[in-house]
This record gives sequence, C-alpha cells and structure tokens, in this order.
Amino acid sequence: MERSLFNYLTLHKVLRIVPKDEAQLSLMKDLEDMMELDFWRGVTTVSTPVDVRVPFHNLPAVKIYLETQGIEYTTMIDNLQVMLDKEQEEMKSAARAPQPRNTDGFDFAAYHSLDEIHSFQDMLVAENPNLVSKIVIGQSYEGRPLNVLKFSTGGTNRPAIWIDTGIHSREWVTQASGTWFAKKIVTDYGTDPALTAILNQMDIFLEIVTNPDGYYYTLTSNRMWRKTRKPNPGSACAGVDPNRNWDAAFGDAGASSNPCSETYHGPRPHSESEVKSIVDFVTSHGNIKAFFSIHSYSQMLLYPYGYTSTPAKDQEELHKVAQKAITELASLYGTRYRYGSIISTIYQASGSTIDWTYNQGIKYSYTFELRDTGRYGFLLPANQIIPTAQETWLALMSMMDHTFKNPY
Ligand SMILES: [Zn+2]
Repeated sequence: MERSLFNYLTLHKVLRIVPKDEAQLSLMKDLEDMMELDFWRGVTTVSTPVDVRVPFHNLPAVKIYLETQGIEYTTMIDNLQVMLDKEQEEMKSAARAPQPRNTDGFDFAAYHSLDEIHSFQDMLVAENPNLVSKIVIGQSYEGRPLNVLKFSTGGTNRPAIWIDTGIHSREWVTQASGTWFAKKIVTDYGTDPALTAILNQMDIFLEIVTNPDGYYYTLTSNRMWRKTRKPNPGSACAGVDPNRNWDAAFGDAGASSNPCSETYHGPRPHSESEVKSIVDFVTSHGNIKAFFSIHSYSQMLLYPYGYTSTPAKDQEELHKVAQKAITELASLYGTRYRYGSIISTIYQASGSTIDWTYNQGIKYSYTFELRDTGRYGFLLPANQIIPTAQETWLALMSMMDHTFKNPY
C-alpha cells in the first residue's frame, strides 16, 4: 500500500450541515447537483444532518455558498488524511503479525486485505467441513471470485437466510463484521440453543466481500471508493452504485443517471455482475426467507420501500421485528438505532437491494447501517469492529429467530 496514493485526500474536510427549514433543504439539494461532492450522508429532511466530504480546492466555493445562504455548518473531520494515516499505521502493524494458521488466530479487531479475508474463509471451511462450504456465485468485473459461505447441517434447498456485507466497498466495518459473524456461527452452533435450532432446519448464506473490486480499490488506491469498478463507456468516471442497480423502480427518483455520481444507477438493471450474481442465486434458490444487506454508517435498521411511500404490505410486522432487533442491539453497549422504511427514515432511493428482494417475495428484507453516526463515518477505528459486530449479531439473531418461528 503506497502512502502516496492517498495523498490527494490531503486537507479534505468532512462538513456537517443541518438544514433548518425547507428553503435550506432545497438549497442543499441544489448543492448536491452542482458540484460532484461526496455526500457521506445525503440530503434527507429538515434537521437531519448532512455529511459531505469537500476537497481542498472546492472548500472556498462551498463555504461561500453556505455562508451567503445563511446555512450553518460545522467541521466534522478537519483533515481526513490524518485519520487515513492512522488507519494505515494500524493496518501495517496488524499485517506485521504472523499470518494466522487457523481462524482462532485471526485478528478480528483489525481491517484486512482481500487475500487475508479469502484465506480466513478457506480456513473456516477446512476447520468445519460438516458445517461450512464455499460457493462461488460469479465473478466481479475484474475477475475476482464472488465467494459466499454456506452454513448448513444438511438437507436439500432448505429455507434460508442471506446476509451480505461490503456491497459498498468503503464501508469497512461491514466486511470486518461479516468475518466476525462467520466465526460466531461456527462457534455458537451446538452451544447456543437459538442458533442451533435455526441451523438444524435452515441454511445461512454469507457474502462477506460483496464488491471485491471496490474493496481492493479502497485498499490500494482510493479509500473512499463506494461503487463497482466497471468503466462507463463515454465517461471518465468508473463504477455503478450497486445499491441502485436492482430491478425495483430502476432509474426512478432517488438514483442518478450521471456516471460520475456516487449513486449512479448504471446503464440497465442488474448491469453489474456483483448484483446479477446475487439475483441469479436468489432466483434459482427460490427458498430464501430473510435477506439482510449490511451497510454503514448512521445506525439505522431499514425495511422496504425506498422507491415509494406506499407502505409494504407487511409493514406492521416488519416494523415490530425491527423494533425488537434494535432493542436487542442496544442492550449490549447502548448503541441507539433509528428504524423504519427506507423512504421515511433516510430518503427516496430507487433500484435498491431490499426493494428487489422484498418484491421477489422475501418478506424479511432489511438493510442495516452500522456504526457510527458520523464522528468517524466510514473510517471507524478498528477497535470498534468487535463491539459493532457483537451488537449487530444480537439484532440479526433476533430477526433470524423471528424468521425461523414464523414460517411462510
Ligand atoms: Zn452503503
């Protein structure tokens, strides 16, 4: 990892802007369209913070815009490079440790390279041949395997639970949590009665690095990369937002048609192999009962819909299940989550993962936004990985248990 590759983030700041009325809200939306800024937390509703990364060269213009309109802002991260350097330093010292020979020796409190995560997966399969297998559901644009861990105690085509992490590559705490979940499942099977009961009748599928090209890019070139890495013909900007690429109100409001946007929906539904591979897997499996797609940050648990404010037909149940899950989550460290439908809790989003899975008949379709609420944003310190994974697991267990006890 060449430090110099990160230098262009020097002096980037992350501003927190809180629009205080409808007029300011609409001015913020204009700002979103005017400059290609990187919105870490997008424009939603009055009083909801907007976090935006502003490059050094844009800073004067952005400040003038905000100040002339009387919009108040604070600097959340003064110098992004300082935080990136710290993260790099920690990763380097973790990488100097001898490579683990088994998954007990894996350092769950550190961020890892793609190779290290792949080797973790292979070790876990080798150590637990009767419980874990690895399925390759496709290839990324750059030819990397799309690995899914299957946890199964037998049977054929059992009702199943799907969990994915890292579909947005820069959300590093999610891939790290996914790795921890994998170890947790093999540790708890046979000792935790609830998980054991679930796995005696259902399978769990876990895709840890759902956007491997993007993840590799965050490790080697641009830590802030969110999208896939496929070039866009006719544009200098690469990549598609894999959470706007699904065939659920594809291309409607709540996604961008600009290839340079962080929410570019792509040329057509399922144009990204990272998305299409899941679509094919889910469709051919045909017996997925719960689908959890895990993002960061902002501490939210969301259910469909994102593209319409018409309530999902199961909204009442989805809401109760979410409420119970976030109560469980908070019981460990007091971490507070908001919850609700995507459109009512964050913003309108079209072509999103769980709107598609829900419309396929997967009732328990949820998206998580893990820690934090913005102090570190995507650069969550590695010492928060394990606590984040632990508390999230309580929510997942609560929802998996509900799925198990409420067959449909
Ligand atoms: Zn995300």
